[in-house]
Amino acid sequence: MRDDLERLWTPYRMAYISGADRPSGGYDTPAGCPFCLAPRAAGVDRLVVATGEQVYAVLNRYPYNPGHLMVCPYRHVADYPDLDPAEAAELAGFTQTAMRVVRQVSEAHGFNIGMNQGAVAGAGIAAHLHQHVVPRWGGDSNFMPVIGLTKVLPQLLADTRDLLAKAWPAAG
Ligand SMILES: [Zn+2]
Repeated sequence: MRDDLERLWTPYRMAYISGADRPSGGYDTPAGCPFCLAPRAAGVDRLVVATGEQVYAVLNRYPYNPGHLMVCPYRHVADYPDLDPAEAAELAGFTQTAMRVVRQVSEAHGFNIGMNQGAVAGAGIAAHLHQHVVPRWGGDSNFMPVIGLTKVLPQLLADTRDLLAKAWPAAG
């Protein structure tokens, strides 16, 4: 069990961190931060599933499992205690809704929920906090290292995004 969790939360598969896509200013500033840019993305690049007042839910482009969502504040903030009460409350509510929605569309058997705080703790993009919502199915850990190294087809991500967005309740 410990081994599975360690593999789940190891960010080795986020190859883009050191890859050629890296913005010149790095990921740490809002101008290059994927979580600041995600709500503005359009077309096939738009992976946002639901938007709230303070936070939004977005599909992970480099998922640990199908349906891997992240809940992020719009504000570029790194440290969880620095969320204001409204942000913290909506982040919690979106996390609950994300679980309900993923269960509804996929019948996930379980979830890993949480955030890596700081690069030393495994945060790929430490400057902008994000809560992972990772659906789990019995036996999935065996192929996770494999899918971790596989690029997910953009169309597959877009279809998953549409499926989850449709199931997301209008009230958020
Ligand atoms: Zn940001």
